[in-house]
Amino acid sequence: MIEESIPGTVPNWIGGEQSEALSGKVFDKVSPHSGRPVYQVVRSLADDIERAVGAAREAQPDWAGLTPVRRGEVLYALARLMRRDQQDLAAVVALETGMSFAAAMGETGAAIAQGEFMAGEGRRLYGRTTGSATPHRYASTIRQPVGVAGLIIAANTPIANVAWKVFPALICGNAAVLKAAEDTPATAWLFGRIAQEAGVPAGVLNIIQGQGEEAGAPLVAHPGVDVVSFTGSTAVGRRIATVAGARLARVSLELGGKNALVVCDDADLENALNWTLLAAFSNAGQRCAAASRIIVFDAIYEQFRDRLVERVRLLRVGPDDADDLGPVINQRQLDNLLAFIARAKAAGATVTLGGRRLDDEAHAKGFYLAPTIIEGAGPQDEISVTELFGPVTCLYRASTFAEALRMANDSPYGLTAAIHTRSIHRATEFTQRVQAGVAVVNGGTHGSEPHMPFGGLKQSGNGSREPGTEALDVYSELKDVYVHCDPGDL
Ligand code: NAD
Repeated sequence: MIEESIPGTVPNWIGGEQSEALSGKVFDKVSPHSGRPVYQVVRSLADDIERAVGAAREAQPDWAGLTPVRRGEVLYALARLMRRDQQDLAAVVALETGMSFAAAMGETGAAIAQGEFMAGEGRRLYGRTTGSATPHRYASTIRQPVGVAGLIIAANTPIANVAWKVFPALICGNAAVLKAAEDTPATAWLFGRIAQEAGVPAGVLNIIQGQGEEAGAPLVAHPGVDVVSFTGSTAVGRRIATVAGARLARVSLELGGKNALVVCDDADLENALNWTLLAAFSNAGQRCAAASRIIVFDAIYEQFRDRLVERVRLLRVGPDDADDLGPVINQRQLDNLLAFIARAKAAGATVTLGGRRLDDEAHAKGFYLAPTIIEGAGPQDEISVTELFGPVTCLYRASTFAEALRMANDSPYGLTAAIHTRSIHRATEFTQRVQAGVAVVNGGTHGSEPHMPFGGLKQSGNGSREPGTEALDVYSELKDVYVHCDPGDL
């Protein structure tokens, strides 16, 4: 049982060693299912960050000195060991998030696929070769590491979030300091242990446990961190951009979403319902790409709404493989969701289903929100323009395609969007004109693949794309190389 091998106090990984915080401080990790503390976690502060960045700076030149192919071999070994330990990783993910083991296996599989893909990039760190305006001058570009990468992640899909950042950062020849999400410390710790076994050299990957302000903020501010890659909320991303921007560090921000799923009057309703259920409620709606605004054509609104309500009523909530969704990550998030719902009601919206904490014996101790459907919210109401990050979705009416598209785009966010239609014209027009980094036809708003670039417009990001080969642009510097030769001197 991997759970029993998690240390009573989950430590940092710094310079290849497990270590406590210099202050000796710890905090509790609480199970989202039982509400009980399961272990303690070291509470790192600025002096721990100093050590981790120091270890990374020391290790980075030798790591960068390996050929990219060799780095790829090490990372491929890491991905292979993750596959060997997939059940263990999934068990820890399930324990820490409350998602089912089956869902955690799926997420871990995606993390492994990410590792395998990025390891292969060791043989494809392509530059560009071209001619020059000057005779006997040759121009090309090469990729070089940025230096030390500060990686900060959210807890929602914890092993995928780790893999999404660590593999591209390392393949490019950077060393990294990863600040684990405070709600999923052991997932990151176990990844660190596997990385060490795979032969990732000491100091190349350092993992810091701790709180955002105490451990994340000093990492962002540290002058020894050359690139900051952040996955989390828009509010925190804005602060990170300000602090890192002041010292001209590179920043990649993967932020929140308020993603629209449009159901047209010509949609395959059964397919649209299936995807709406998954996109809005799987992982308890804790996805940046969750479908939180369902825009339904007037002509089928009642029919779609009634069938959706019927299906959502049947969703099973709990931590087991037979369940459809689990708890939200912590008490604070549950309280936030309940407060958002209460304010939406006060502003005139209708809670059609759910809207309350599950208080029966099986759920009362955990952070379980009943899957919630809200109708009648105004498009500019708080609940329509703010990311909630939970199993809550709002339904809106549109009378035409033009109105649905306008509503989809009328958002401060622009991460993902989906349309359900049988019309090639509507589908094409939507994918061209929707303001989002990802557009999906007849599927969910979620489900991006490891080899594809993911990222959002407007307040969903700052223009970068991770992963895919595009992640290499985040983690490498491009250098122009000009070679002059003198054919008269042969
Ligand atoms: P959050 O922003 O509160 O925290 C994310 C991480 O940032 C945590 O590790 C936290 O400790 C750290 N942090 C907090 N304050 C910090 C600070 N001042 N300086 C540095 N680090 C700090 O987000 P959350 O509530 O944990 O996660 C949910 C959010 O993440 C949602 O908005 C969701 O959309 C977003 N998310 C985005 C993507 C994406 O790819 N776009 C993927 C997953 C989650």
